[in-house]
Amino acid sequence: MKQRINLLIAFSVVALIVLSTVQCYLVKTTYDYKVAQFHTQIKNEIAQISNNYSDIDSVLVSRKEALYTHLSEKYIQGKNSKIDIKKGILENEYRSALTAQIQRKFERDLPNFKIDFAIVLNKFILYKNTKKADTIFSEKPFIQNKLYGNLASLNHAFLVRNYVGTTNGTFENQEYQLLTEDSMYVSVIDWEMIILRRMAFILVLSLFSILTLITLFVIALKALIKQKKVSDVKTDFINNITHELKTPLATLGISTKILEQKNIRENDENFNAIVNTISRQNNRLQSLIDQVMANSLAENKIELQKEKIETEDFLQTIVNDFKITYPKIGVKTDFQTQKTNLVLDKFHLTTALLNVLENAVKYGSNTIIVKTKQVENQFSISIEDNGIGIAKNKQSLLFEKFYRVEQGNLHNTKGLGLGLYYVAQIVKAHQGSVNVISDLGKGTQFTILLKV
Ligand code: ADP
Repeated sequence: MKQRINLLIAFSVVALIVLSTVQCYLVKTTYDYKVAQFHTQIKNEIAQISNNYSDIDSVLVSRKEALYTHLSEKYIQGKNSKIDIKKGILENEYRSALTAQIQRKFERDLPNFKIDFAIVLNKFILYKNTKKADTIFSEKPFIQNKLYGNLASLNHAFLVRNYVGTTNGTFENQEYQLLTEDSMYVSVIDWEMIILRRMAFILVLSLFSILTLITLFVIALKALIKQKKVSDVKTDFINNITHELKTPLATLGISTKILEQKNIRENDENFNAIVNTISRQNNRLQSLIDQVMANSLAENKIELQKEKIETEDFLQTIVNDFKITYPKIGVKTDFQTQKTNLVLDKFHLTTALLNVLENAVKYGSNTIIVKTKQVENQFSISIEDNGIGIAKNKQSLLFEKFYRVEQGNLHNTKGLGLGLYYVAQIVKAHQGSVNVISDLGKGTQFTILLKV
């Protein structure tokens, strides 16, 4: 059974992991798709507003073309090198004016997005006699080749468009053609947030479905473990009660056999001893059956016969009787309250308190202290012992029906696991509560809190 549960858990965990992975993959795919869609949208919108720089400022554009022509002609003359051309282009004086103008246009035409951009020059090729190509430079888009714009890096930017420009000219009877290519890169500020906002519905839905699945899984698992525990506890109970019944039955069997012997029957002393044994075992059987009966009835409603009693006196009587039954056990009282009148069921509460006191003896204690005190508006009765104690992880189960702490050998101490269950039921019927504090090897303290 345990193996099957473990297998089931392992399978479910694997299934959950696979499902979560698939969900993550789907979310990631959607995210990538949304990013691509967003880029296309931005590209289209920008394409509509700037087909050419001349839309933005024709004066600046003609100055730019004049600079290109001037640099090309000086190069043809041999007055400047390729590096001089690149330097001349990149250090153009209209850089900040054009940047500001393009930026303003973006702000006006695309007010929903905050856009940073860079236009980088990739190619500058001269065709002398319009045939032979002389590549001044041709590079991949680099931010270092920025003509205009306010972007500091191309890392998170995406390509919006390429501008290819051609200029024809004649210099000293020599025809030439100039081919330039520059690219516009943009980066939308907070674009991740924009995309996440667009994906909010999908994100919430998938998170919700995964969380629901995990919650259902945990609930199912808890129910399964609880069921297994109940079935284990029931099996333990059957083992315990069988064991408990065996001893008196065996003694009864032997006693009857002995009584069949004539010489025993004729000896009064022996005869009485055997009859006493039979009577003791009979009582033991009766009390076992009573315990089981009382607790199965307790499942329904316990009918209390309450009366007003002076609680300290009531406790003292129980302690005195207990001392007579267990003369070797040191039982002390420490009452910090006086003459507290409570409405209680004497009979049931006596049995419950005796269960706790007897447990203390059963589980290794030789000194018991019974204390009372007032805790806010509650009356507290605590029974402290110096017995074997209870491990922390077992303490929450103590008050469950049939529960017994396993101590290596299950039947080391006799019991059915009903004593504390009965205590809890009786205290609950008084609208009170019971709790335990214990350290393994040091002792245990049970505290019963009753409403004043
Ligand atoms: P039972 O004594 O018949 O086993 P109880 O319901 O009275 O059943 O107690 C449940 C379990 O709690 C016991 O099996 C025992 O292991 C543990 N227990 C109860 N009282 C004490 C105590 N004073 N010290 C140590 N262990 C205790």
